[in-house]
Order: sequence, then C-alpha cells, then structure tokens
Amino acid sequence: MNKEIHVIYGCEPRKMVKELLAKMQLATQLSADMHVGIKPNLVVAKEAQSGATTTPAIIEGIIEFLQANGVKKISIMEGSWVGDSTKRAFNICGYKDISQKYKVPLYDLKEDQAVVKRIGDLEIKVCKKPLEVDLLINVPVLKAHCQTLLTCALKNLKGCIPDSEKRRFHKMGLMKPVAYLSKALTPGITIIDAIAGDLTFEEGGNPVPMDRVIAGYDPVLLDAYAAWLLGYSPEDIEYIGIAEQLGVGSAKLGEAQIFEYNAELKKRSRFVPTNRAKQLARRVEAKEACSACYGSLIHALQRLDDNGTLTKIEQPICIGQGYQGQTADGLGIGQCTCRFVSYVPGCPPNAKDIVDFLSEK
Ligand code: SF4
Repeated sequence: MNKEIHVIYGCEPRKMVKELLAKMQLATQLSADMHVGIKPNLVVAKEAQSGATTTPAIIEGIIEFLQANGVKKISIMEGSWVGDSTKRAFNICGYKDISQKYKVPLYDLKEDQAVVKRIGDLEIKVCKKPLEVDLLINVPVLKAHCQTLLTCALKNLKGCIPDSEKRRFHKMGLMKPVAYLSKALTPGITIIDAIAGDLTFEEGGNPVPMDRVIAGYDPVLLDAYAAWLLGYSPEDIEYIGIAEQLGVGSAKLGEAQIFEYNAELKKRSRFVPTNRAKQLARRVEAKEACSACYGSLIHALQRLDDNGTLTKIEQPICIGQGYQGQTADGLGIGQCTCRFVSYVPGCPPNAKDIVDFLSEK
C-alpha cells in the first residue's frame, strides 16, 4: 500500500484540504460517474470547536475539490454513538447547511441496512451504504480515547456499523473488532482533522490546537503516525498491530514518506491553554509558542501525567519562538530552544519524542 503521509499546516481548513488533495493528485483517481462517500466523525452532537467532531470546513473543502474535478455523486454518511442522534449531530455540527449548500445528501447510518462480513473467526455487521460507494473518504478527528487511547483513522469506521454492533464491539473490548472492521471496510483515503482534537476523551471538552490536516491512503500507517503525535508508540494501541497483521496496512513509521506543506504557517498561530491544558502546563514557560508546538507538548504532558511521572519534573519547560538564540539551563521544547543545554529538536517536535525526552529528566 502507498506509504505517503501528507501534512499541511495552517488555520484555514477548507483551503488547506483542497491544497492537500491537489498535492496528493487525488484528481487522477476520480471520474464523473463514481459515487464518493464521505465519513466524518460526528460521534456526538457537539460543534467541532469542542474537539469532538470533524470540522465542517474540511468537509466543504473535500466536496469543493470533488465537484471541481467532475464528481457528481457525493454522499455524507455517519452513525453517531449509541445514545445520541445522528440527525441532531448533522444539525448542530453544521452538516445540514453543507448538505443544502452543495446538494449532497446526508445518510444516517443508524437507519441503514447491514451486511454480515466474515473476517477470520469474526462476523461483523457493516452498514450497506459505505460498502457500496466507489471511494470512501474517511475523515476522523485526531483525539485521545479513554479505552483505546487513540481514536482516529481505524476507530472512526465504527460509525459505519449498526448500534447493536457498537454495543457488541464494547463487550468484546474494542481492540479486535475495531481492527477487523477495518479489514471489512477499508477506506480509499483518510483525511485527518488535526485542527484541534480532544486531549483525553472522544466526546470533546479539552480541544488542543494542532493546526494541521493530515492525509494518506494507508489507515494503519496514519494511525501509527497519529499515535506518535499524541505521545504513544504505535505498539501502545493494540488495534493498530492487529490491523497490520490482518494486512490492512503497515504500522512501520520508519518506512513512511512524510511530506509537509505550509510549514511557515504554523508560526502564525499562538496557543492559549484552557481547562485541562492549563493544569498540565504549570511548569511550562511559554514565549510566543506556536499552537502546533504547544499542542504536542500538552499531549506529551498528559501522557506523563497518565503514567504518574509528570510531578517528577522539577526544571522549567521552555517553549516558543521567544527563546530563539537564547541559552538556558531549562528543558527546551522545539528547534527554537536549540541553544539550551538540553532540548528536543523538531519544528514542531512530536509528542512521543517529548515524552521520551522529559521521561529521562
Ligand atoms: S520550534 Fe519554534 S517555530 Fe517551530 S513550531 Fe515550535 S515554537 Fe514554532
């Protein structure tokens, strides 16, 4: 499978996603008579600013790109989690307006028929509509999850099964069925909304600005990359390894070809910590820190807090462009602190490297 990971930085999601799809030359795979299904994450009826759901401007950008390239049949399909109404989510999250504006139908997969797919020793009921499209575009949000640690490319497909099956997945502990589902229903392309996903829970409440959109063809590779951005190793997320064994994709990040665009734009947006981020950042001394950089640090601090090592850090943690050219004894985060005695390289560094660096202090 294609091992490319494309990352674009900035704060204008609609424009960014169109630029990203053009760089990936997606147009070469499109034709006028194909049916393209878009699967966002509308797990709950909460606006994208909460960190829970897919930014509607990203969906608009995808639709505009598809329509500009002649695709006539486009659908948006989703089934919210058990206990919430997909229709309410379509309304509150701005998808009803998108549907009217672009004349793209919305399908509530809770009302769809299901098809039984057998993968190895497991039978899974999968909604019919996402199986029938010619190209399924998976548009998850980069966010943490209380049980599976990460919810991104693979787990977003859980919105494509009936509610009864969602309950059964939880009974089975999620890891195996989530991986097996990705074998039964593999998206053609995945576009990750990493504008500001949640720090700890899939239902939002602590959005962490990361200011980027990430795309690629291999959902396993993208989840391995997403894990790394949140401060985990791909091996920490059990379903990534199972999906790799099933042949859905590769989790070998070392073999990925990573392309980054608009790197200069990440310097324009400043992170303003809120709620949980404020508590985690007690030892952080930020000076003009980019959101992309501070977001990685917050995810890393959350991982250290999870494993009980955060309180052991005694030195100040310094981050931001205001430290460029300065020397200091504190712990530096990012290339701007390269003159510090001890620092993590990267612009921005990823959360996993920050976790490893701070764990040694
Ligand atoms: S290293 Fe400096 S310029 Fe680069 S993302 Fe971090 S704060 Fe911004």
